[in-house]
Amino acid sequence: MKRKAEMEEGSLFSQTDMPPKGTENTKTAQPLRPAEEAAAHAWKEKIWEFDLTKPSQWMKDTMKEDMLKEGFGKREANKVFKGLFFKEKVCNTRTQALEYLKSIPTSYAVKYKIGITPSPKMVSLEKRLREKEEKLSTYTKEQNEKKFTAPFVSCPHCKSRVNRSFIHPPLCPVCGKDMRSDTAVKNITTLEETVRDLKKRYEDTARKYNSKFTGGETWIIRLVNPLYEEK
Ligand SMILES: [Zn+2]
Repeated sequence: MKRKAEMEEGSLFSQTDMPPKGTENTKTAQPLRPAEEAAAHAWKEKIWEFDLTKPSQWMKDTMKEDMLKEGFGKREANKVFKGLFFKEKVCNTRTQALEYLKSIPTSYAVKYKIGITPSPKMVSLEKRLREKEEKLSTYTKEQNEKKFTAPFVSCPHCKSRVNRSFIHPPLCPVCGKDMRSDTAVKNITTLEETVRDLKKRYEDTARKYNSKFTGGETWIIRLVNPLYEEK
């Protein structure tokens, strides 16, 4: 663990004096066809949901139509569909289904349960979760507005006074530390931890509760675009 941290730190500092990259630009020698170009700049992954009554070919056609509108060619669309399998597996929650789909490197489809009335415990956990999420978002916005609206912002750590246009909030472009007050950072971290904890408790509760029921189900599909290029 320590070694990994040191390596990351090392690469962070060497970034400025790295030699110009040669290997990454080899692709530009051969221009992409427009359809490849479109696919490369579209999306990395996409989630679709379909009613259980739909045949798999119909689902594929619908998704393909959408991709063609986005500029994908048929060849590119077929590459996205490579590996797509409609698995007869029913997950207890949508989150559980997404977790499963993300563990598979290619496009894939499973089902998850729908229409189950949540238990009182789930309702109360969800209410608390929404409240805390709301509080986190309002507080963060408030603190950022307070700190980053003036034309010059001072850093509490390195004491630099920086022109607002050079800052990507909340980090100081000089020392790289969070420019907001320690109290604000602490409060935000605590709220984030609470939100994470409530999310996990809600999800655990929902999985356990839903596992006792059978009933409505829906398809969920994760399309993976192997042609996507990170910018
Ligand atoms: Zn600083």
